[in-house]
Amino acid sequence: MEKKIGVYICTGCGIGDSLDIERLSKVATEEFNVPICKTHAFLCGEEGLRLIKEDINKEGVNTVLIAGCSPRVNWDVFNFGTNIIVERANIREMVVWSHPPGEDTQELAEDYLRMGIARAEKVEIPEGYMPEEEYNKTILVVGGGISGMTAALEAAKANYQVVIVEKQAKLGGWAAKWAKQFPKHPPYQMLEDTGISSKIKEVEANSNIKVYTSTTVKKVEGQPGAFNVILSQNGKEEGIKVGSIILATGWKPYDPTRLEHLGYGRCSNVITNIQMEEMAAEGRITRPSDGRPAESVVFIQCAGQRDPEHLPYCSSVCCLVSLKQAMYVRERNPNAKVYIIYRDMRTPGQYEMFYKKAQDDENIFLTKGDIVGVTEDGDKSVIVEVDNTLLGEKISIKADLVVLATGMVSTLEGIPNTIEEVYAQYGLTGEEEVAKIKEVIASKPQPWEGVLNLDYRQGPEVPFLQSSSLKKLSDFPDSNFICFPYESRRTGIYVAGCVRQPMDMDAAIKDATGAALKAIQCMELESRGRTVHPRSLDLSYPIFFLQRCTQCKRCTMECPFSALEEDEKGTPKPNLFRCRRCGICMGACPERIIGFKDYNVDIISSMIKAINVPYEDEEPKFRILCFACENDAYPALDMAGINHLSYDVSLRVIPVRCLGSVNMVFISDALSRGIDGILLLGCVLGDDYQCHFVRGSELANYRLGKVGETLQRLALEAERVHMEQVTITDYYKLPKIINEFVEKVKEIGANPFKGF
Ligand code: SF4
Ligand code: SF4
Repeated sequence: MEKKIGVYICTGCGIGDSLDIERLSKVATEEFNVPICKTHAFLCGEEGLRLIKEDINKEGVNTVLIAGCSPRVNWDVFNFGTNIIVERANIREMVVWSHPPGEDTQELAEDYLRMGIARAEKVEIPEGYMPEEEYNKTILVVGGGISGMTAALEAAKANYQVVIVEKQAKLGGWAAKWAKQFPKHPPYQMLEDTGISSKIKEVEANSNIKVYTSTTVKKVEGQPGAFNVILSQNGKEEGIKVGSIILATGWKPYDPTRLEHLGYGRCSNVITNIQMEEMAAEGRITRPSDGRPAESVVFIQCAGQRDPEHLPYCSSVCCLVSLKQAMYVRERNPNAKVYIIYRDMRTPGQYEMFYKKAQDDENIFLTKGDIVGVTEDGDKSVIVEVDNTLLGEKISIKADLVVLATGMVSTLEGIPNTIEEVYAQYGLTGEEEVAKIKEVIASKPQPWEGVLNLDYRQGPEVPFLQSSSLKKLSDFPDSNFICFPYESRRTGIYVAGCVRQPMDMDAAIKDATGAALKAIQCMELESRGRTVHPRSLDLSYPIFFLQRCTQCKRCTMECPFSALEEDEKGTPKPNLFRCRRCGICMGACPERIIGFKDYNVDIISSMIKAINVPYEDEEPKFRILCFACENDAYPALDMAGINHLSYDVSLRVIPVRCLGSVNMVFISDALSRGIDGILLLGCVLGDDYQCHFVRGSELANYRLGKVGETLQRLALEAERVHMEQVTITDYYKLPKIINEFVEKVKEIGANPFKGF
């Protein structure tokens, strides 16, 4: 498209009071020969917008650069239709609101205008990635428990076709085995029916839902809108096509044989909360040793949970389960005694009322305490020794029955989810030739029973929560530590219920409803050529110039969403409906052959080149370039501006989709132009990472570890390039972070490439 650029400088919001607007306009008209450059005191107002629209309609302006407020605000106001490119130069939050008037601030504004024009000259309008064949909008729900059935019903009510695949012979999952559930209605003190039978009937009666029981998923290949799924039922296989998948396979109990120290396996009358529930559902609470009704029952909380040797997390429901089971005991036998030994009672929200009811029952004794011994006496009664109790003394309880409140483990536990784990199962390292790897895998049956069995480059199941050292923390699938529940790192596959994290039935119902909505959202967005979160609605997609690909496999390995498969030689084969447009592949590619129409190496390099790097021998003016992640760091910089916090005026900020999209060529381009230092501001990495693209900031950190070679080649100091992790709420820390870095660069001295 032949561009006609119009630059519009807003003088409102204090901009006109701080800057020499005429001098700023000359950057556009004289340096860049932009045909139209106008100023207005209130560009986002009716009159300002009319000015722009008139130029679009009468002068043929098709690329509008607004120099004014941050691109994060008024984006809906400065929208002139799909055929008009709109770019923004942030001279409000990042210039006049964060720096006092003066020559340096004027130069800062001019650089933002230069970068804006350079970008406006290069960007093209993304047209959206459209499906070649009809985008399938059927939802596959794997798992027919409370979460799976809820997700299916919610999607079916929204008029989507749903297929439920359940491994067991009947729908219902664990909830079908429960005698009762926790109180859900005021006064939150009475146990309630699980309601599972009516839910099963509702599912079976819904014409939008097809149910396969005694069925497993043998293989999933393809991408959202075009997943090919092979189901296996009683030895027979059937292929179906679906658009998105909800994984709701639930949980399994923690292995109690590992709890011998709490008496399990050693004492006949030590059972788990699952065994207790089964007994209660059968209408009895008896001692396994002799079938005698249990008159006294001890519940031991956190049986394995919150213990680094067992489950490092809280299973969130076990306290409530024990209170519920205490009620079973008391309802059956008014003389029965119950003892609950806990570390902390966790009964959030209205469940506190239920806890209160247990506290009010004089036959239920509750105390904090450490279990120091569980033994059996001659008549098979269990002796529980408790220390550090609230009574301040050791106690010993003799009970007919001890119930261990064991925790929840994801059904994905123990199943390889990364390709490295798969290779390990077959005795491979991944370093072997592709043909050899395929031969070894084909020659042996799969030594594990998978759940989704994804035919994906990066592994067969949705990835689990991992720390910065890529050490597994748990077997719960995860996409973002904070922001995105229901998500997995496999686009179009959403995770609901206890396979995602421990939760009660109520929470599972809400979770499943959210996952159904996400699955629908994914199919509706993608079928219109748009991507899913966190760049929801984005029409751009990565374009690969594969003629120059050297098959280095960096992009296929580093894509956080396994969007890229490989051919035999290692050339990437994009599955663009799996792609979330993070640009990490663009940052990874040493050949610089991956880019988006509105975000690519050429655009960023042109912006870097547009920065004016003054060369003065006597008193050098420093220029620091900052790549700021659009998700947290850039908004934090905006917030610093909104709060009129000031930082060193030498900083020029280029927003990036993710720090993972920063190609190392940007660093060498900037340094070879005489930029004195480069600051990368990205999301927090590590155990509580907040990167919206999972691995982006971690990858940037890793790549920076290797940037030393580039700096060595340029004979520059490694300290000139620095990365900091910030969250959106860290805005008040930014002036210190920035100023300290600039000071460090000043101590090193000016970049010797200045003036070349
Ligand atoms: S790295 Fe990001 S942009 Fe590239 S293919 Fe993967 S999801 Fe898409
Ligand atoms: S990173 Fe670039 S060169 Fe390497 S495989 Fe991917 S496209 Fe090819």
